[in-house]
Amino acid sequence: MRNTVDFSAEVENELCMTLPSLSVNEGIARSAVAAFCAQLNPTAVELADLKCAVSEAVTNCIVHAYRDTVGEIRIVVKLCEGRMVQVEVKDRGCGIADVKQARQPLFTTDAENERSGMGFTVMESFCDSVRVQSRVGKGTTVILFKRLHR
Ligand code: ATP
Ligand code: MG
Repeated sequence: MRNTVDFSAEVENELCMTLPSLSVNEGIARSAVAAFCAQLNPTAVELADLKCAVSEAVTNCIVHAYRDTVGEIRIVVKLCEGRMVQVEVKDRGCGIADVKQARQPLFTTDAENERSGMGFTVMESFCDSVRVQSRVGKGTTVILFKRLHR
C-alpha cells in the first residue's frame, strides 16, 4: 500500500559509506546509492526521485552542517523486505535549532548564497517519508524512506 511505511521491515541488503563533505562527493553519493538500489530493478522515475532526494540531503551536509570546514558524511542504504529503500544521511556538523521550521518550504538560513529553502520539500515530495533528527553542535541525521513498486 502506497505511503504506508513499515519502519521495522527486515533488512535484506545494506551499503555503508563514509565520505568527506567535498562538493564532488554529492554526485558520487547520489550515483552510489542509485547503483546499489538498481538490484531491485526500480523504474527510471523511481531511481531519479531517489537520486534527487539523496542529492538534497548530502548537499545540506556540505553547505550547512560543515559550512566552513570539511567533515564526515555517513550514508547507510538499507534494502528492506517489501521493496522498501531506506537511506540514512548523517553528519556531525552544526545541527539544526528548529527542525520543524527548517522543513518549511522556502525556509533557508543561507539566502545570501541564493538558496531557495526547498531541499527538505524536495526530499518529502520524492520519498514516502522523511525523518530528521538533529542536535545543535552534535549533528543531523536524515532518513529517507521510499517504497519501490513491483
Ligand atoms: P536549498 O536546499 O533549496 O538549496 P536550503 O538548503 O537552505 O536551500 P533546505 O535544504 O530545505 O533548504 O534546508 C533548510 C534549512 O535547514 C537550511 O537553510 C539550514 O539552515 C538547515 N539545514 C538543513 N540541513 C542541515 C544540516 N545537515 N545541518 C545543518 N543545518 C541544516
Ligand atoms: Mg538544502
